[in-house]
Amino acid sequence: MRLRTYYFVICRLPMAHILIAEDEQRISSFIEKGLKSHGYTTTTVGDAHAALSLSMSDSFDLLILDLGLPDRDGLEVLTDLRGQGAKLPVIILTARDDLKDKISGLNGGADDYMTKPFRFEELLARVRARLRTVTYTSSTAPLTLMIHNVALDLRTRKAKVNDEWIELPSREFTLAETFFQHPDHVLSRQQLLDRVWGYDYDPGSNIVDVYVGYLRKKLGNDLIQTVRGVGYRLKE
Ligand code: CA
Repeated sequence: MRLRTYYFVICRLPMAHILIAEDEQRISSFIEKGLKSHGYTTTTVGDAHAALSLSMSDSFDLLILDLGLPDRDGLEVLTDLRGQGAKLPVIILTARDDLKDKISGLNGGADDYMTKPFRFEELLARVRARLRTVTYTSSTAPLTLMIHNVALDLRTRKAKVNDEWIELPSREFTLAETFFQHPDHVLSRQQLLDRVWGYDYDPGSNIVDVYVGYLRKKLGNDLIQTVRGVGYRLKE
């Protein structure tokens, strides 16, 4: 019998359903794609009316709310939502970066306030923090991805190589996480840029190659293979 030399374990927290209220399609699909690739279910609406009625439906765990919506201001959605006693966690995601806007957002009942342009990994961290606080406080479920001799702890965001824990800077960890969530898949540089660096990067840069180099040094040279002309693959 052939012994398999790898093992792959994913222990996931319950999947959360996130409502995205965003009228700019480029941004909403960027958020949606990113959240889906991290196991979340998403629904997107492009106006305040739909955002409010769906938020009241009890089907969601979190609302990501743009303020500049075409029919009404997002702040009014928030005010109505809180006025009706809804406890749904809300992260405002907006281009308005004035201190007074932030204060009115938070005073109006938002749990968090984030400004555009933004990095996906920061939004993801904030989403996780919100869901952790509200929904999963009592959960002690492990959240570990493991391939070969390398494990990633998604809560502490540390990697373990041959039983030794190592710290990875945030961007490197997110890149590693992306590979570990898609073992054996060929991921193009573009996909990796979208997932790890967000839409706010220089398209001509070789940043992906540089960071893959960092990961190889830290996690092992053979773990991530180059697929010529396409991108990279985590060897399963
Ligand atoms: Ca908008």
